[in-house]
Amino acid sequence: MIESSLAESNSAVMAALATVLLGLAATSLALAQDAARSYPMKPIRLIAPFPPGGGTDAVARPIAASFTKAWGQPVVVDNRGSGGGVIAHQMVAQALPDGYTLFLSTGAGMVSTPLVINPAGYDPYKDFTPVGLATLLPAFLVAQVSLPVNTVQDVIAMARANPGKLTFSSSGTGGGHHFAVEMLNSMTGVKGIHVPYKGGGPAIVALLSGEVTFCFGNYPAARPHLNSGRLKAIAMAGAKRTPLMPQVPTMIESGLPGFEYTTWYALFGPARMSRTMVDFINAELHRVLHDRSIAEPLLAQGAEATPSTPEELTRRMRDEQARWMKVIKSQNLKF
Ligand code: GLU
Repeated sequence: MIESSLAESNSAVMAALATVLLGLAATSLALAQDAARSYPMKPIRLIAPFPPGGGTDAVARPIAASFTKAWGQPVVVDNRGSGGGVIAHQMVAQALPDGYTLFLSTGAGMVSTPLVINPAGYDPYKDFTPVGLATLLPAFLVAQVSLPVNTVQDVIAMARANPGKLTFSSSGTGGGHHFAVEMLNSMTGVKGIHVPYKGGGPAIVALLSGEVTFCFGNYPAARPHLNSGRLKAIAMAGAKRTPLMPQVPTMIESGLPGFEYTTWYALFGPARMSRTMVDFINAELHRVLHDRSIAEPLLAQGAEATPSTPEELTRRMRDEQARWMKVIKSQNLKF
């Protein structure tokens, strides 16, 4: 008797608790929807994990400018280039998911760097909310015009004749450009030395000033110097040639089958950003990147607008992670 009345009062308490919890959940959902509807109400920080002068900045700026114009609130690019982008990733991982901290990250920070710098202090899958892919950007091997090499085979011959003396600048430890140096070493048995910089911009400056022999980089940083004739592109690192420099062969065509990587840039927020907000920003990202006045100048810098859903972005990260892990194993890469 006592037991059954206790059980009854317990279930009454549970039911009341469930009602309160449901009410709270509904209130916080309504609050989140309200916040998302009135978003943005103040300036937004778009963090870039590399300094000005490289691919990330070249992609972040037009997107930020277009968001600013459409949203009526400043979207300010905040370059936090350091440690292969690790510091910026840690910073965003700790930010509030309220939409006022956005992040333009890359295949480096979200895939390859955590494979090399381990632990990196952030988890690409747990600490961020994917919003959408923005652009792909081909990468390539570049040298000063005065260097007496013109092909990848020339580079290999020069490296064989100068073991441990040829240096390759990159945008940072763990990025695709760093992997490229290690792939070159392991595929050909040469001993090129990787020299990390804070970003693609500083890596090209190092090449121009003669601090390094070569640079694995991408187009936005190298373009003015390719155009002015100070630098020459030796080979593209992607699977295909680029229409911007159709005469430049790929690494694969140059005798290194399987030598392939492309850099990419994508929009993220901190973990647990609301779906309503993600959908809004994703739709805006598509609008911006389908706008020819933005997509065409980006393409002139080598960045092809390829907006995606958040789910496609996560898939790309997982596929690329699996691919790099295979390359590390099959090429026996040592970092
Ligand atoms: N493409 C570079 C990377 O992903 C970015 C470098 C930069 O923006 O400076 O590693």
